[in-house]
Amino acid sequence: MVMGSLNQETEVVVVGGGPGGYVAAIRAADLGREVLLVEEREHLGGVCLLEGCIPSKTLIHAVEVIHGAATAKKMGIGFGAPAIDLASLRGWKQGVVDGLSNGVRSLLKQRGIEVVRGRARFAGPRSLTLEHSDVSGIDFKHCILATGSRPVMPFDEGLGLWTSREALELPEIPARLLVVGGGYIGLELGFVYAGLGSKVSVVELLPQLLTGADPDLVAIVHRSAKKRFADVWIESKVTKIERNGDGYLVSIEARGETKQHEFDRVLVAVGRKPNTEDLGLEKTAIVLDSKGLIAVTPECRTREPQIFAIGDIVPGPALAHKASREGKVAAEVISGKKSAMDNVSIPAVVFTEPELAWAGLTEEEAKQKGIPVKVGKFPLAALGRAKTVGSIDGMAKVIADPDSGLLLGVGIVGPHASDLIAEAALALEMGATLEDLMATIHPHPTFSELLMEAAEVAAGEPVHIFLKKP
Ligand code: FAD
Repeated sequence: MVMGSLNQETEVVVVGGGPGGYVAAIRAADLGREVLLVEEREHLGGVCLLEGCIPSKTLIHAVEVIHGAATAKKMGIGFGAPAIDLASLRGWKQGVVDGLSNGVRSLLKQRGIEVVRGRARFAGPRSLTLEHSDVSGIDFKHCILATGSRPVMPFDEGLGLWTSREALELPEIPARLLVVGGGYIGLELGFVYAGLGSKVSVVELLPQLLTGADPDLVAIVHRSAKKRFADVWIESKVTKIERNGDGYLVSIEARGETKQHEFDRVLVAVGRKPNTEDLGLEKTAIVLDSKGLIAVTPECRTREPQIFAIGDIVPGPALAHKASREGKVAAEVISGKKSAMDNVSIPAVVFTEPELAWAGLTEEEAKQKGIPVKVGKFPLAALGRAKTVGSIDGMAKVIADPDSGLLLGVGIVGPHASDLIAEAALALEMGATLEDLMATIHPHPTFSELLMEAAEVAAGEPVHIFLKKP
């Protein structure tokens, strides 16, 4: 690093230390670039690591343990009612988060990446000013913007409602919790609190939970949610939230009728907005779209050729693995490599009980776009491994081109769907056909056989279910 009279200079500056930013910084440094990373928080890892993916999955695992113990009764094994020590659970979750965050810091240090604490804003198309920092400004050759997103709060901030951030801090286990929003964040946290003992109600404005996933797959998660939750209201709108003693009085409108319900806490999970308003973008040629997102080329380049943008601030699903892939692409393009976001699929995973995951084309999308497809579905109930663990509510579905058998999409609901979808993502990237999936020897008895079995159904050659010849 060269210390100028005022500004520090660097070849590449990365703004944001989340899964987009820190991965971009590491890739750029490994490709020989001089890299400086600016992060306004004390800890590295961004939303994903500090208040998103990692703490939520840690708590989801904890409630899976509780659920596993409860269902062991069927096998003749009994445990008592769970005794939850909230402080210890919180401490365990925080230990996981802190360990991983420190790991990110070490990875950056090992590469000689300088990390500067501060809030960055453009002073011009080739320089940043920093607030709350020991460094006043940075002049750069290239910049990778990865400032992420934050929760949308459509209700009065003064009401003390929870967002996912507060819910993941695990301040208490409310007796009655309302989750506003039936997307993946709301549902995952709903399953966490229901598992810990809260009476959970979910309210969703649209006719389906988990918009974007195929309705037949969502129906399985919806059934499970109805068993675990006190209420699952779809096509219902929260019209008013008022304080009611220590809790809340919430007005919910459905089919033209409004009813009031009492809750102890309300968690609002209705979406996220990109952190792009306060970046000084007016000092550059970059403009925001109506959602506050920054348009980029497949190389992740903005309208300023030396500024790249990645992660939750650019269009596409707001997911950590997409942010990381974009981070690698931006770093590679800066380093003169031929690289682009040309992936066939960005897998999506919902860590509910059961898990739901999909990659590539959905059946619904094919229908809407008039794409001819053949579909094969294989139920968990017909899979040996599913029987051995007593989880038979779920299925795998493959969607393929009817002529060539080219795999176009996969959806899975069931245990380990989050892991199983990686095989589908690889198959889609490699242009696999149904035949490739069918002829690949999948180990028995495992959940991985689901994909092979569903491919056999799509090809009309199933072994473990019987299809009547037309
Ligand atoms: P972020 O992770 O948001 O990081 C941005 C960083 O930039 C932050 O650390 C911020 O402090 C910093 N920053 C912002 N502005 C400035 C500035 N001006 N100067 C300096 N620093 C700045 N995704 C998945 O793929 N799988 C999951 O299971 C999953 N679960 C989730 C659960 C929850 C509850 C939530 C909320 C999100 C979840 N996500 C999940 C989404 C995932 O967290 C995001 O997609 C991901 O974190 C986006 O990465 P990013 O690098 O774009 O930004």
